[in-house]
Amino acid sequence: MPGQLLIRSATSARTGDRIDVHCVDGTIAAVGPDLNPVGATVVDAENCIVGPGFVDIHVHGGGGASFFARDASRLAAYSAWAPAHGVTAYLVSTAGRHPSDLARTLEGLAPAIGRASGAESLGFHLEGPFLNPTRHGAFDPGTLRTPATRELRRYLDAAEGKVRMVTLAPELEGASALVTRLAQDGIVAAMGHSDATFQQARQAIETGVHHVTHLFNAMRPMHQREGGIIAAAVLDGSVTCELICDGVHVAPEMLRLACHLLGPDRIVAVTDNLHLAGATTGDARFLGQEVDLSSGLAVREDGTIVGSTLPMDGHFRTLVREVGLSLDEAFRACSSNPARVLGLDARKGEIATGYDADIVLLDDALWPVLTVCRGEIAYRSIPA
Ligand SMILES: [Zn+2]
Repeated sequence: MPGQLLIRSATSARTGDRIDVHCVDGTIAAVGPDLNPVGATVVDAENCIVGPGFVDIHVHGGGGASFFARDASRLAAYSAWAPAHGVTAYLVSTAGRHPSDLARTLEGLAPAIGRASGAESLGFHLEGPFLNPTRHGAFDPGTLRTPATRELRRYLDAAEGKVRMVTLAPELEGASALVTRLAQDGIVAAMGHSDATFQQARQAIETGVHHVTHLFNAMRPMHQREGGIIAAAVLDGSVTCELICDGVHVAPEMLRLACHLLGPDRIVAVTDNLHLAGATTGDARFLGQEVDLSSGLAVREDGTIVGSTLPMDGHFRTLVREVGLSLDEAFRACSSNPARVLGLDARKGEIATGYDADIVLLDDALWPVLTVCRGEIAYRSIPA
């Protein structure tokens, strides 16, 4: 049971001021200078930066645990591993080789959503299967499907109503009916793995798609005579864009360009991590195919990069060091903006009274040294 915790004298990533953060029963009860609650466990954070815990809304696993299988223990394993990388909440991003595989995975994992201690699983992100085979990325194009409301219903039911986001290719026939259906259920429709033209993407935005899955990756590239999804998304202030910030999926200069065009409130850093995240050596498998990790990436034999292996704190550091964001802007990209995409911005993504006590402390090199998930210390490398 979380009791009381006091984080003392940390430097606020937002304001640069020294602050104390008092957490009671999983919630931030007070933020300010010189708090002195009776009976709280005290963390001396004098040399630390404090910010809201990272919320990763596009992640397939990490630390050896994969979300591509129905084994619910993998959520607990990931929830225990992720706080070492500053993650306090996440969406379980999954897919299947066949509709019945995906339904079985969702059925198997659904009861574990929101259950484990450590990083909080917030629900599912279905990355497909209604994606464009011409922009399949690491997915086998043979497993992608034509949009069908009944099939979608099957997945939503299998997931016990815990799907929060669905990535689809809006240009596919039947996709707009799915978008309408998702909106009725309060589920975020995201466009990605898509060959949509500018006009098709515009139309999708008008139908209710306000989020883009890993901008630049697995989509029609921007061209001077056809701007595609990228131009449509950038030009519409209602659209948020995921960016894989490992510095490889998207080159640092393209990250800088995107941040410049989108501004600090529309960037959503995501890892797209596989179970291989955190691993650095040897051969491994992803969706049945061999991948090689020796280059620091997960690369298939044909050269396709199949997902990032750099954990979330690495993406945060890329945003600060290589993209040039301020600490506050990087925390928005990694914490506040993803929480807002899911409609959770009244309880996650801020260090403020009444918010969930999801907190990360970073050292001056921006490595997590202590992570609090709903008031409990889930990771700690500084002395008690
Ligand atoms: Zn993915």
